Amino acid sequence: MDNFARRRERLLSGLPGEDLDAYLISSPVNVSYLTGFSGESSHLVLMRDRALLVSDPRFTEQLAEECPGLETHIRPPTKTTLAAVAEVLNGLGLRKVGFESTALSVADWEALKELLPAVQWKGAGDRVERLRMVKDDTEVKQIREAIDIAERAFTVLCALLRPDDSEIALCDAMEGYVRRAGGRGTCFPSIMAVGPRSALPHAPPTGRTVGEGELLLVDWGVSGRFYKSDLTRVLDTRRSGALAPVARGRLEEVHAVVDRARERAIRAVHPGVKAEEVDAAARTSIADAGFGDYFGHGLGHGLGLQVHEAPALRPRSQTVLEPGMVFTIEPGVYLPGWGGVRIEDDVLVTPDGCEVLSHLPRALTRVFQVD
Ligand code: ZN
Ligand code: ZN
Repeated sequence: MDNFARRRERLLSGLPGEDLDAYLISSPVNVSYLTGFSGESSHLVLMRDRALLVSDPRFTEQLAEECPGLETHIRPPTKTTLAAVAEVLNGLGLRKVGFESTALSVADWEALKELLPAVQWKGAGDRVERLRMVKDDTEVKQIREAIDIAERAFTVLCALLRPDDSEIALCDAMEGYVRRAGGRGTCFPSIMAVGPRSALPHAPPTGRTVGEGELLLVDWGVSGRFYKSDLTRVLDTRRSGALAPVARGRLEEVHAVVDRARERAIRAVHPGVKAEEVDAAARTSIADAGFGDYFGHGLGHGLGLQVHEAPALRPRSQTVLEPGMVFTIEPGVYLPGWGGVRIEDDVLVTPDGCEVLSHLPRALTRVFQVD
């Protein structure tokens, strides 16, 4: 049995308890997870003893390549996807169908109800997302690959960084470095935030140049083959000799606070611990240092086929950590008008704690020679 069939088995083990005949999987990323198919506009009908992918002629060859052996129903161009789905469900005599209420639009659901008046529909919103929280070995391997690509791209970015590079130019450059390092591309618009811009946790890039600020915050995500990585580092871009090399300024202070919070959070990660407890470890550490009002987002998020997925690490998150979960740890302190420091690493929950999957140095070192 391949990984995809194994995942379908795991999902289907919940089917009898839900009093359902089948699941209709509509989210493209969940279809990918359960079949290996990387295209879109396709719906997977999952029954106890059968899996059938409803797709269209654009994907016939791709399906043969990516999921050999999977039963498919290719609709003709004269028929809509939903009409084809309805035809399949009807032909199989399915009466109780669980659908992805988080993925199927209300309009599509209304259309299906009209096409299939005898079917009882039950919202089964997050079944696949819950499975996806715990990664198998092939998934972890692909996440490691995406991280490796991200780290190599970042190393090149640092090596070639110039004071007159603008935030926008660096975003463009990062895209090229990621592809050169073997990635499909970045998986969200990179954040390249100079000086005070870094106080905006999701700062859009501007024409501001690196030499205009004392720090550059870089938050970049990579699409590897299928899986993603998400990292953040802060570079010390001060150039002038005005600051003695040994002087500890605000940048050093804030960086140390964030790094300590990261350390505390990582030490708190263990199977059986609730996600909110890991968030609290970092949050308390930042508050104890006097910056409690300046960490306004959750500590981290799951990472996998999507760059943001379950589990969420934030206050009140009741998810209990399990070995195989992969998520970011990304505490930050953002001081309006001055700037922000965030350090983001990707971690894997192991039977006795966690493994930090990313390895880029975090120490604050100046990237430019002092004038
Ligand atoms: Zn990030
Ligand atoms: Zn992130």
